[in-house]
Amino acid sequence: TQKQKVAIAGLVQEFTILPVTLKAIKNCFKSEMAKGLAKQGETLAMVQTHIFGRLNGSETGTYLTLDIGGTYLRVVLVELSQGSNVSTRQKKYAIDPLLKVGEPKLIFDFMATCIDSFLLANEVIIPKRSQLELGFTFSFPVLQTSINSGTLIEWTKGYSCQGMVGKDPAEFLQQALLSRNLNVNVSALMNDTVGTLLSHAYLHPRTVVGLGLGTGSNAAYIERVDRIGKRDITMLGDDAEASTQEMAINIEFGAFDNERTVLPMTMFDNKVDRKSLNPSKQLFEKMIAGMYLGEITRNVLVDLIDNRLLFRGQSSHKLDTPWEFLTEYMSVIEEDSTSDLEVVRRILEDNLGLGQVESLETHLVVKLIVELVGKRSARLAAAALGGILEHTMGYTWARNEAERQGGVDIGVDGSLYGFYPGYESDLVRGLEELFVLEPEMSFLFAKDGDSGGFLEKIRLGRSLDGSSVGAALGVALA
Ligand code: ADP
Ligand code: MG
Repeated sequence: TQKQKVAIAGLVQEFTILPVTLKAIKNCFKSEMAKGLAKQGETLAMVQTHIFGRLNGSETGTYLTLDIGGTYLRVVLVELSQGSNVSTRQKKYAIDPLLKVGEPKLIFDFMATCIDSFLLANEVIIPKRSQLELGFTFSFPVLQTSINSGTLIEWTKGYSCQGMVGKDPAEFLQQALLSRNLNVNVSALMNDTVGTLLSHAYLHPRTVVGLGLGTGSNAAYIERVDRIGKRDITMLGDDAEASTQEMAINIEFGAFDNERTVLPMTMFDNKVDRKSLNPSKQLFEKMIAGMYLGEITRNVLVDLIDNRLLFRGQSSHKLDTPWEFLTEYMSVIEEDSTSDLEVVRRILEDNLGLGQVESLETHLVVKLIVELVGKRSARLAAAALGGILEHTMGYTWARNEAERQGGVDIGVDGSLYGFYPGYESDLVRGLEELFVLEPEMSFLFAKDGDSGGFLEKIRLGRSLDGSSVGAALGVALA
């Protein structure tokens, strides 16, 4: 009907990020990075990780790592042998949702229990009077105080264990390990994006950014120390020294634009935000990350239903229930290339209990909405990455002609990026759009910046197990 067409046209307009908006977001992101480097307590935390310099590929040793931050907990034994050889043994544990919101002691005891059973299962024996070094990937905003200590700024991604804010997660884990008599020493604490940065850099020396697109969204990058205005002079040296040093920075970009100056938020984003465990926080993350995309889509569908513009006004219990529309469904829906959208119908009927969803038009509408939400996420990620690349260009890469020719590598981790159809190409397209008409960026393009060119010198690479291998590298550096 005409009413349906109008509603859908409205959604297309609201969720489409035009090139001019994309650029405005990228520019704002860049200036927020500068603010966060200058001063503590800005919107972008720009956390100093205490990881200095770059890897040289010669790091060796056997280390244990524990990665927690979203949907799973992973314990990995990483063996680094010179020459970029990495071998791992690992186990993934599902996290009981109750642990995410319970007493902190419970979740840290669970971590120690997982480590204990992993060591037993893999027959890892720690010799007497020695200990196994552990890299702890803890992917929440932490104000880092040393390479293996820090204080939790706030919980994100659906966690809210009371009484942890301001406390040191590494210390909690160490205590839990001690009370199980495990000779395991927490010797590095890091964000997963920092791990991704390190592990990608181990294999690709030109890496300057680690990007995480899974349950949450965030990035880390290599910064020149003299650009960190808020740095502690006693620790990081004077200006002359600082201009030759580098340190990894965890941006904590999920909080970008919590002030709502530039993000084109819709009423559906507001609905998701209000019902979240951290209202008015992590607004950028809530538009991008895997945890939220399904819930945004669900809110759009329910709104169309309530306006009698979809499914003849009939919802289902599943569709009415927050968080029941999984982001994984979006991937499956995007992938459906059958002429009658048979797969979309099956998701609606079998997974969401929508009875008989009759017409192809209906399936097309659902698919369109999924595409709008998914593409917006990839383009927002592109705006952030574009901002980071511009910020670092000429400082940690592209400092001279040889480096410009060599280009730049970006390690990307996370299931959203890994499994969502077309995500990577939408992200790259976004970057191209940002840079194509910028003369100083033309060197990035294969055909010297004309509109037919492609971004030859920006290489995105999937970093599998990145956060775990990276945590082991962090221990090696520590
Ligand atoms: P974590 O964030 O715990 O490190 P992942 O990177 O695997 O773990 O991200 C898990 C999240 O990614 C899930 O919660 C979900 O939101 C999203 N996700 C998982 N599989 C898919 C998929 N096939 N398509 C789209 N999103 C997915
Ligand atoms: Mg992860």
